[in-house]
Amino acid sequence: MSDCDYIRIFQKGFNYSQDGPGNRLVYHLSGCNLKCPWCSNPEGLKDTDATVKININDIVKEAISAKMIFIDGGGVTLTGGEVTCQKDAVLILLKKLKENGIHTCIETNASLPFCEEIFEAVDYMIADFKSPDEEKVKSILGGDINTIRNNLLYRAETGKPLLVRIPLIRFFNCGKENASGFGDFFNILKATGNTELYFEILTYHEYGKDKYEKLGMDYSVSDGFVTQEDVNILLNILKENNLKVINT
Ligand code: SF4
Repeated sequence: MSDCDYIRIFQKGFNYSQDGPGNRLVYHLSGCNLKCPWCSNPEGLKDTDATVKININDIVKEAISAKMIFIDGGGVTLTGGEVTCQKDAVLILLKKLKENGIHTCIETNASLPFCEEIFEAVDYMIADFKSPDEEKVKSILGGDINTIRNNLLYRAETGKPLLVRIPLIRFFNCGKENASGFGDFFNILKATGNTELYFEILTYHEYGKDKYEKLGMDYSVSDGFVTQEDVNILLNILKENNLKVINT
């Protein structure tokens, strides 16, 4: 058995339509390459006591036995952490799920280079686009905006479903200049002609804050909560550009 036979996760469970269409069996994969200060899953940023290694064949078996409850187009969702930190094993898993007729979804920060095969094996992709500001993406998140843009554009060009999520955070990405930057890039995605391109605004919350203390980590965000006005500035740009906004 090699490392590619296993997926490292820190949580799993079922939910309905929040992480892809229909009823989903959701696996939270350990490890992330970014460092978003507001991350609500700090226990998943690296391997901890919560991390469990599961054989890929066992995940496939679990998914097959859950087929009866995959209603409304449901299936398996891989989220994180960041799923592409375990790219080789994830690709094997996605292919096996597809071979067994199971709908696949990944939720990703899109900041690591993808391979074409992953795009092919993913039926529904949820990708964050956290900021149009190259410098902030680099200095605050530790990511490269061009990689993120390229991944989203490539996915949009395939014509397959893509839900772009914007976590709206007051100190980080609010205001007219940011909204205009979001609109500019989203129009580039729309220009691909993808008819299954959706956008969702997620407002800042502190559901994960308590976990930081338990893990001995600092929680540094003090100006995250947004106002309705902050939301409306971005929402108006999305609507003016006829982008499909959804709430999951
Ligand atoms: S990309 Fe997601 S999992 Fe990674 S640090 Fe940011 S919020 Fe957390």
